Amino acid sequence: MIRMVDIVQKKRDGKPLSAVEWRYVIQEYTADRLPDYQMAALLMAIYFQEINGTETADLTWAMAESGRMLNLNEIPGIKVDKHSTGGVADTTTLILAPLVAAAGVPVAKMSGRGLGFTGGTVDKLESIPGFRTVLTEAEFVHQVKTYGVAVMGQTPDIAPADGKIYALRDVTATVESVPLIASSIMSKKIAAGADRILLDVKVGSGAFMQTLDDAVRLASEMVRIGALVGRETKAVITSMDQPLGMAVGNSLEVVEAIEVLRGQHTDSALYQVCLTLGAYLLTMANAVADETQARQRLAELLANGQALRKFTEFVAAQGGDCRIAHDFSLLPQAGERAMVNSAQTGYIQAISTADIGHCATLLGAGRQYKGQEIDLAAGLLMRCRIGDKIAAGQPLAELFAATSGAFAEVTSRLSAAIRIGPEPPPPGVLVYGFVDETGYHPYS
Ligand code: URA
Ligand code: CA
Repeated sequence: MIRMVDIVQKKRDGKPLSAVEWRYVIQEYTADRLPDYQMAALLMAIYFQEINGTETADLTWAMAESGRMLNLNEIPGIKVDKHSTGGVADTTTLILAPLVAAAGVPVAKMSGRGLGFTGGTVDKLESIPGFRTVLTEAEFVHQVKTYGVAVMGQTPDIAPADGKIYALRDVTATVESVPLIASSIMSKKIAAGADRILLDVKVGSGAFMQTLDDAVRLASEMVRIGALVGRETKAVITSMDQPLGMAVGNSLEVVEAIEVLRGQHTDSALYQVCLTLGAYLLTMANAVADETQARQRLAELLANGQALRKFTEFVAAQGGDCRIAHDFSLLPQAGERAMVNSAQTGYIQAISTADIGHCATLLGAGRQYKGQEIDLAAGLLMRCRIGDKIAAGQPLAELFAATSGAFAEVTSRLSAAIRIGPEPPPPGVLVYGFVDETGYHPYS
C-alpha cells in the first residue's frame, strides 16, 4: 500500500518517486484525501532536494490529468499555443493570436487573469465591450474550426491540482522551485490540448526569473517536460528589463495591440518580440520553410491589413464590438489623466519594471488579491525607454485612472522606478536566445 509518509520520507532523502507515486500524491491531494501538512512537507522536500526530469514529467502529467483535458483533434492542422511566464506591457497574445491565425495556423488558446504586477490576457480582452471569455469546449473548438482562432479564460476544471498546490506553495515559501514552476505551467498547457507549445520565458526586473541562468533553467525544464509527454515545446528567452510595450493597463494595451495589427510601431520591441514568437509558431506548425520566410510573411500580414481583419473576425466571433478596431473611443475611457515629468536631465539607465506594474495596479489596472475588481480603463503609457535622452520637465509617463486619488503616490513611485544618469547605458538585449531539446542557443 502507498503511504504519503513514506513518499515524503523518500523525497526528504533525495530518492526518486515513481510515476505511480506521483499520480497517487496528485489524485489524493486533489480529492482532499491528503492533509495540507503532508503535502507541505513534500513540497519543501522537493524545494530542497529537487527532482529529476522524468519525475517532473510524471508530476506534470498527473497534474494535467487531475481535471478536464481538452480534445482538439476535431480541428484540422497542427494547433499551437503560446505562453508567457508573465511581465509588464506584454500584449503579445492579443497580436499573435490573430496574426498567426491569419497565416493559416490554428490558434486555440487558454489565458489567465492578471495578478500582482503582471497583466492577464483575459482581462485585456474583457475591456472590449461584449467580448466573452467564457466559452464551452464545443464553442471553443467550433470557433477555431471556423475562424482559426479562439482565446478563452482558463476554467477551474483545467489542472485543478495546480490551483490547490499553488495556494499551498504560496503560504509555505515553496513557489520558487524550478520543477514546481515548470510542472505548474506545463500541466495547464498540456490540459489545454495544443499539439505544440511555445514558451516566452521572461527575464529581468519585471519577471519571475531575475537572471538569464534561472530563465534558461526554467525553460529547459519545461522543454524537457514537453518532449517527455509528447508535446513538442520550445522556449524563447526575452527581456523584461523594461515594459515590453508602452501601454500598461487593459484597454490601453488593447489600443497598442490594435496599432501593431494596423502595421504601426514596426521599430518597437513589442513588434520585434511578436515577429520572433510568431516565426517560431509558424515553423513549429510546419507552415513555412524557415524562420526568415516566417518573419517576412508575418510582416506582410501586419502591413497589408489581413492580421487586423482576422482580429476583427475574432473579436466579433466572441461577441465583442469589432468597431473598436477603428474607433478607440468605444473602449473604456479613464476620467482623469496626468503627466509624470522627469526631474532630471540625462539618459534613462534602468527601469524597475515590477514597480511600473505596481504603479498601474495602484491606478486600478491590476489586482492585489485574486478576484479583486479592476478598472479596465486605468493604467499608464510609458513615454520613455532605456537609452532615451531626457530633459528635466519632459514626460516619463502618462497616468490614467477613474479619479486622481492615487496620482501623487504613483508619480513619486514611478519617478523612483526610473534611473537617470549622465552617460548613455550600454545597449540592452531584447531576445537572448531559444531553448529546444538540444539545449540553449544564444542569439549572440
Ligand atoms: N506561473 C504559474 O502558472 N505557476 C507557477 O508556479 C509560477 C508561475
Ligand atoms: Ca500574460
